[in-house]
Amino acid sequence: MKAVFIDKDGTLVDDLAWNVEPRRITLCGGAGPALRMLARLDYRFIIVSDQAAIAHGQVDEAAMGPMAHRLGDLLFRERLTLDGYYYCPHHPNGSVQRYAVNCFCRKPQPGLLLKAALEHEIDLRASWMIGARLHDIEAGNRAGCRTLLIDNGTEAEWRLGPRRVPTRIAPDLYAAALLIATEGDTRR
Ligand SMILES: [Zn+2]
Repeated sequence: MKAVFIDKDGTLVDDLAWNVEPRRITLCGGAGPALRMLARLDYRFIIVSDQAAIAHGQVDEAAMGPMAHRLGDLLFRERLTLDGYYYCPHHPNGSVQRYAVNCFCRKPQPGLLLKAALEHEIDLRASWMIGARLHDIEAGNRAGCRTLLIDNGTEAEWRLGPRRVPTRIAPDLYAAALLIATEGDTRR
């Protein structure tokens, strides 16, 4: 089984800071056709998202259930299936004590991808991580995936490093899907 791991805010859905109101969540333009192209190539879809607002007390973790439901619903309307929604609620400087930890799941750490791969029996070397931040790219690279950076202005600090170089760069999700489709099944 292979997967496309995808960041949520600013990559899959339009970025509204701290928004957990399900009705306000909307897919980025072109996401439906892009992901349908990848679904035809048998990629599973798993969202991996840092939700540090939980650690900062701005969002309640209880909002994640309705959030996942809404994301699944938006994809269903595009004739797509969401196979998993994984999030990290932590931040080392969080104000909510139980989330204020140095965890292994906050990107650029690869923990969310490794957990999802284990639970869904996914071959990481045959999979891709798509994100709009270099933290997404580093997490994907560290997990052993190929990586695709959506260069849409979301990344503000271009701190490059050996683990922060994407396999491919695309301006939007549709261009990203075309590149992934072109790469075929070659493994990392
Ligand atoms: Zn975490």
